[in-house]
Formats: sequence, structure tokens, C-alpha cells
Amino acid sequence: MATGPIRETPCPLCGADTARLVLIQAGYRIVRCPTCTALYLSPMPTPHELTAHYQNPDYFAGDATQGYADYSAMEKALRPFFQRRLHTLVRYLPQRGMLLDIGCAAGYFLTLARADGWQIAGVELAAAMGQQAAHMLGIPIATHLDELPADIPYDAITLWEVIEHLPDPVVQLRRLYARLRPGGVLMLSTPNTNHWQAHRDPQHWQGYRPPSHVMFFTPTTLEDALRRAGFTTIHIQRTAPLPPIPGWLRPLSAPLEHKLANGQLAPGLPWQVGLWLWRGVRVGVWGWQRVRQPNDDMYATLEALAVKDV
Ligand SMILES: [Zn+2]
Repeated sequence: MATGPIRETPCPLCGADTARLVLIQAGYRIVRCPTCTALYLSPMPTPHELTAHYQNPDYFAGDATQGYADYSAMEKALRPFFQRRLHTLVRYLPQRGMLLDIGCAAGYFLTLARADGWQIAGVELAAAMGQQAAHMLGIPIATHLDELPADIPYDAITLWEVIEHLPDPVVQLRRLYARLRPGGVLMLSTPNTNHWQAHRDPQHWQGYRPPSHVMFFTPTTLEDALRRAGFTTIHIQRTAPLPPIPGWLRPLSAPLEHKLANGQLAPGLPWQVGLWLWRGVRVGVWGWQRVRQPNDDMYATLEALAVKDV
């Protein structure tokens, strides 16, 4: 930690510099802008610090047991989410076209998109991951947007769990807006900081993960960021219900949830059985929470779809 007076970072959304401390997490200050309610790290990590963070080969490892060899297992865990998002996108753009995935990681989403009839392009800042995606897909993967030809207008641009990593989201969204053709669609997802756990159990909230996450969006601030970038037609929905699991159930549910998230179930336990078991648990505690805390927001993820108006 730096010593001396704290250099507060102006609000990445509205530019105000009157932020107030909300929480200190892992030594990082999370502040709220009283003008626009944006939540962000202040001081913001420098671009140099962030680049070093993503080039660390451990970044995507998750835990020591989950290496690149688990591609098919991870793909299995992520596929239902990506298929549903792709389905939403195709409702707006049934003719498909050219799709750019920013932060494409190992290329799971691009693989599905290509199979669905899209032409694909990807950007991945983490070089080792980008190389894996390039190998899987047989196409070059850029490490920065600037490396892509400027004269290709994209029909769709996707950013899955990316925007919370960007210290200057409005600037980056504007650049993506410029890359879309008129009528093109940008889709993104990010943790929902209105989730009950962010308020009542912030130390354990999966969204408060500095310095990897530097901004923390609510439906209000996410829509604000997209408007400031130029979008006027914006749909935001909340997904991924995550109710609180009672303490007595956690020893059972935690390993199951972990294995599901990583696409690895215990030998002999069929994939679908585990999935439905876990869904049953969540529906049960959801109902219980609805009774006890009716005002809680239980959706862990925000998904936005924004159209560049013709
Ligand atoms: Zn602000």
C-alpha cells in the first residue's frame, strides 16, 4: 500500500471527485460517487499494474487443479450460459454477421458463435489465453482492439464479464460503439452489485474482487455507462439467481457448486443429476429468502443488450 495522502480517482462515469469510502477489500478502497452512484476503486490501479496482473499465467488458473487441459470441462459448464446469450442476440440479429468477442479467453463463446453461423473475431489481453483461443479456433486473436482492421463494421460485439475490469469503461464502450455498424448490437454481462450479498456480506461477494475488478455495476450505473457511450436503446436484465445458502447446507452445496462451475463432477455422479440437484437446492432457498427478505435482489449477474441506432 502507498503511504501519504490518498490520491482519489475521479468518477469513471461522471467525472465528479467527491467519492466516499464504502469498503476496503484486500487492501483496495471501494468508493461510491454521490453524484451518479458509481462504485469503483480509488485510487484506481495504473494501466501498468493491470497489464502485469493479466499477463500473470495464474490469472486464468482459478485454482491449482484447473489447467488448460480442462477445456472441455469448462466449456461444458459455460455452454448453457453462452447458448442462452447467443439465442438472445440472434433474436435481434437473425441474419447473423460479423461478431467480435472482447475478452474472449479460451474462445468458448466464439466456438459456439461460429457453429451458429457467425463470422468471428476476438480480442484477449492475456497473451497465453489468447494463444490458446487462436489455436482452438484457427484464427489470429488480437491482444488489443487497435490491432483489428479499422474498416470492418461489426454486427455484434460481446463482452462477457469484461467491463468490471476496465478503469475507463465509457471510453472503451465509445470505441466499441464506433466499431458497430448502425443497427449493430453490443451485449455484455457483469456482476450485479445490487445483489443482497454485496450489501450484507460484502467481504464474500464474488463481484468485489480487486484489483481484477475495478468497477462494480448496478442496473442504474450500467445503463448510465452505455448511454454515455452513445447507446440509446438499452435493455438490462438480471440473471443467475444466487440465494443465500444456509450454513448447515453449505458443506453439501459448496463442493457441488464448485464442481459444476468447473465442469467437473465426482466420478459416477451424472452431470445432469448434479445440475438438477443444485437447481432444486437453489429454488428451495430462494423461496425461503423471498419470505424472510422480500426486498433482496437475488440475481448475481447483469446482462445488457444495447443497439446502435440507425
Ligand atoms: Zn459519478
